[in-house]
Amino acid sequence: MARYTGSVCRLCRREGTKLFLKGERCFSAKCAVSARPTPPGQHGQARQKKMSEYGTQLREKQKARRAYGVLEGQFVRYYEKAASMKGVTGDNLLQLLERRLDNVVYRLGLGASRPQARQLVRHGHILVNGKKVDIPSYLVSANDVITVRARSKEQVHFKNLREGTGRIVPKWLTLDAENLTATVTALPTREDVDLSIEEHLIVELYSR
Ligand code: SF4
Repeated sequence: MARYTGSVCRLCRREGTKLFLKGERCFSAKCAVSARPTPPGQHGQARQKKMSEYGTQLREKQKARRAYGVLEGQFVRYYEKAASMKGVTGDNLLQLLERRLDNVVYRLGLGASRPQARQLVRHGHILVNGKKVDIPSYLVSANDVITVRARSKEQVHFKNLREGTGRIVPKWLTLDAENLTATVTALPTREDVDLSIEEHLIVELYSR
């Protein structure tokens, strides 16, 4: 399945919640969820009827998938991996999604949104333990050191970030903004997820 290239605000409107896919704009009055809080499309208003149990579970899965920018097949693989891990499957699933390198770059404030963070990774600006990693789905581990490539640090985007990213860094990461270097101090827990996702609905969907 090809990656979605349409309007990302449309995705937020479809899920009825902010997925924070556009950086600054998401916090402004221009945010489409605030301005037009109905589902997209000609029959958007009509779709606002009570949803079936399956529909609710499906929407929750789509919300998580779209927020983290993961395609369907890859999301299923995350679920299967989460189910095979020790502990609560829903928590494991969210932990795997949080550990994605593009998400880490976003949570550190190096990218304004997850899509932008994904692009920074794809363009080779990010190093993990001193080696270039241009795979957005790379899963970080405890004690990994994430840095911006020396050459990239001179770019305006990263120079501006050295004054501070303006983002509250989650407690499982530490950031030295001056040197644009971060360390994964621990693996993320359920409490570290900043999105309102009811992961038990996703587990129920895949357990059908
Ligand atoms: Fe668009 Fe961001 Fe608002 Fe979503 S949260 S509708 S991506 S501006």
